[in-house]
Amino acid sequence: MIANRRLTEEQYQQNFADIHPPFENREGAIIEANRCIMCYDAPCIKMCPTHINIPKFIKQIATDNVKGSARTIFTDNIMGASCSKVCPVEKLCEGSCVYNLLHEEPIQIARLQRYSTEKAMYNNWQLFERKPSLGKKVAVVGAGPAGLACAFYLAKEGVDVTIFEKESKGGGLMTYGIAAYKVTPEFCEDEVKYITSIGGIDIRYNQELGKDVHLKDLQDNFDAVFLGIGVGIARRLDISGEDSQGVEDAISYIYNLRTNDFSSVPVGDKVVVIGLGMTAIDAATQAKRLGAKDVTIVYRRTENEKPCTDVELDIAKLDGCNMEYLAAPKEVYAENGNVKTLVCSRMKLGDADASGRRSPVETGETFEIECDMIIKAAGQTPFEGLISNYELQNSYGKVSVNSAYETNWKGVFAGGDCINGGKEVVNAAQDGKLAARSILEYILN
Ligand code: SF4
Repeated sequence: MIANRRLTEEQYQQNFADIHPPFENREGAIIEANRCIMCYDAPCIKMCPTHINIPKFIKQIATDNVKGSARTIFTDNIMGASCSKVCPVEKLCEGSCVYNLLHEEPIQIARLQRYSTEKAMYNNWQLFERKPSLGKKVAVVGAGPAGLACAFYLAKEGVDVTIFEKESKGGGLMTYGIAAYKVTPEFCEDEVKYITSIGGIDIRYNQELGKDVHLKDLQDNFDAVFLGIGVGIARRLDISGEDSQGVEDAISYIYNLRTNDFSSVPVGDKVVVIGLGMTAIDAATQAKRLGAKDVTIVYRRTENEKPCTDVELDIAKLDGCNMEYLAAPKEVYAENGNVKTLVCSRMKLGDADASGRRSPVETGETFEIECDMIIKAAGQTPFEGLISNYELQNSYGKVSVNSAYETNWKGVFAGGDCINGGKEVVNAAQDGKLAARSILEYILN
C-alpha cells in the first residue's frame, strides 16, 4: 500500500539528518589538516575537476588561516561548499590521496573543505572584490551549479549578469535533485545568497526558457548568453504497464521530497527502484528512510559495472536495500490500475561495447518481483524538444559546444549537464567557470 506519514516526526528527522557530520571543533579540523604531507605534484589537485589547490587550503587550515583557505577553494570552485557535501570524493580527490597507497585513511579533504567554506558562508566573509562595471550584460539561463559559477566569475570581473531560473529557488540539482540527507534546501538557499552577494547578479525566478524567455530575445538584448539548463526528464522504459498507478520517475520523486514535508510524501510498502546510478541510490535510500518496508534495486548488469560509487552502494546496503543484479524490467503488471508486480528478464553479460563495458543480453528466463511502487531511475533524456526547436547543434540532445563552450548560436555558450548529459555538480561548476572566461574574452573583443 502506498501511504504517507509512516513515521514519527522524530524518526523523519533522524533518518534525514546530515550523513557527513562536520568537525565538532577547530582542533579537530587542525589535527586532520596536519596529517596532510603537502605532496609535491599533489595527485588530489589533478583529480579535482576544478583543480582546487588542496594542499594549500589544507595548510591554511593547519595554520588557522580559515579565511585564506576558503578563498583558495572559492578561487577555483565557487560551489566549493556544495561540493564538500555531494562530491563522490572517493573516486576524486580523496581516492587519489597518497595515504591510500600506505593503506591508511586518506585525508578528509571534503570535511576540511566543508569546515572552511561553511565558516565563510555563515560569517558572510566577502573574500573577493567585484571589479568596477564593464558596462557589459550577460544572460545566464539556469541558476544551478553551472549557471551560478558562470554568473559569479563574470560578476567578479565587472560584468552585469541576469539569471533566468524556471523554478522559484536557485541551486538547480542541488536544491531539487539530491538526497535530503546529503544537503538541505535551506543550505542551498544560503549558498545562492552567498554566491550572489558579490553583487552584479540579478536572479529572475519562474522564468522558463522557451516559455517566458526566448533565446533570440536574449541573444539580441545581451552581449552574450550562457545556457546552464541541466539535463531533461527521466528516460521512459517503454514497457507495458509503465503508466500504472504507483510507477514514478526518480527525478519527480526526489523533487517532491525536496519541496514538501517528508511526512507528506507517499511511499509504498514494497518499492522497486530501476537503475544503479546516483539518482537510483538517492531514490532507493530515501524511500527506505521514508518508511518503505522493502526496497529492491534492479540493475541489468553486475555490481562490477555499476555507475554509482562503492560508498553510495554501501549507503544503500546499510539502509537495508536489496540488490537484484542481471535483471531488466520487462513488464509492469497492475490490478485495477495499481502496480502489483514487476516482471523482469534475467540477463547475462555479453560482449564488451565501444566503452569497454560488457553489455547485458537476455537469457530468455523471466521472474517477478511483487511491489506496490516502482521508481524509474534508468537515466535522463535531455530537453530534446527545446534544443531542436532552437536548432541548437546537439548529439542525442546534448548541446554541442566548441572548446570555448560556444554553441552554434553566435554569442550563446553552454555548460554543465546540458552538454555532458548529467555528470557531477563539480563538473558543472568547472564548466561554468571556464565558460565565464571564454565569455569575457568574447564580450571584450
Ligand atoms: Fe595531502 Fe593527500 Fe593531497 Fe598529498 S594527496 S597533498 S597527503 S591531501
